[in-house]
Amino acid sequence: PPGLYIVATPIGNLGDLSPRAARVLAGASLVLAEDKRVSARLLAHAGASVPMRTYNDHSDEADRAGVVARLGTEAIALVSDAGTPLISDPGYKLVRDARAAGHEIFTIPGPCAAVAALTLAGLPTDRFLFIGFLPPKEKARADALAEIAGVRASLVFYESGPRLGASLASLAAVLGPREAAVARELTKLHEQCVTGTLADLAERYRDSSPKGEIVVVVGPPAAAPPPSEDQLDQALRDLLASGE
Ligand code: SAM
Repeated sequence: PPGLYIVATPIGNLGDLSPRAARVLAGASLVLAEDKRVSARLLAHAGASVPMRTYNDHSDEADRAGVVARLGTEAIALVSDAGTPLISDPGYKLVRDARAAGHEIFTIPGPCAAVAALTLAGLPTDRFLFIGFLPPKEKARADALAEIAGVRASLVFYESGPRLGASLASLAAVLGPREAAVARELTKLHEQCVTGTLADLAERYRDSSPKGEIVVVVGPPAAAPPPSEDQLDQALRDLLASGE
């Protein structure tokens, strides 16, 4: 049926393209791609010979209006270079506009580096906060981390090799002693997941710039100790004094 199809694609291993994703891509009348060269390989793998148009962070209102105008009669697919569109990738404004115009929107879920890393890290997954890319400048990075330091959840960051050392140093400095994992080249030949405390990992990657794409997962802060008898008594007295 016509509408906008949000299609997740592999994060390294072409075998992870789902049969449904391949079918949708082959049946689309247009594929919106972040980088047409990157997605051309995927379309060839899926056996889809479909026209492509660039859709990325530089796409504007007029580009979106042009796409939305066609959604009533055409199946148009959005892909990003890798993984799930809209997750640290373009697309949300297009979905917003398509929704506002009353069109059908379908999701074809699949690989996502953040979720893949969470499944490998061995850190709590009951609550997690996806942060994406941290600011490159040290002060802005420390400020961003200070804002989330109290969150009782695992934290998920996207990183690149050249920035890993500096980011881990900030994480160790601002978040204190926590368990963490550096997941690299997921689903690829040199997939690796290194775990340790933030201090260990900051030390290990201090002067190195590992190749490839990276997700850093940081465990939640240590649980606060249970309140003491005295604290409980005080809380009770406060409550009674407040007349509730
Ligand atoms: N939309 C994508 C997704 O669903 O994961 C993420 C796009 S974001 C622009 C690219 C970042 O995702 C990389 O810098 C890296 O942090 C992470 N990433 C993508 N593929 C990866 C892989 N195979 N292994 C580890 N991290 C990966």
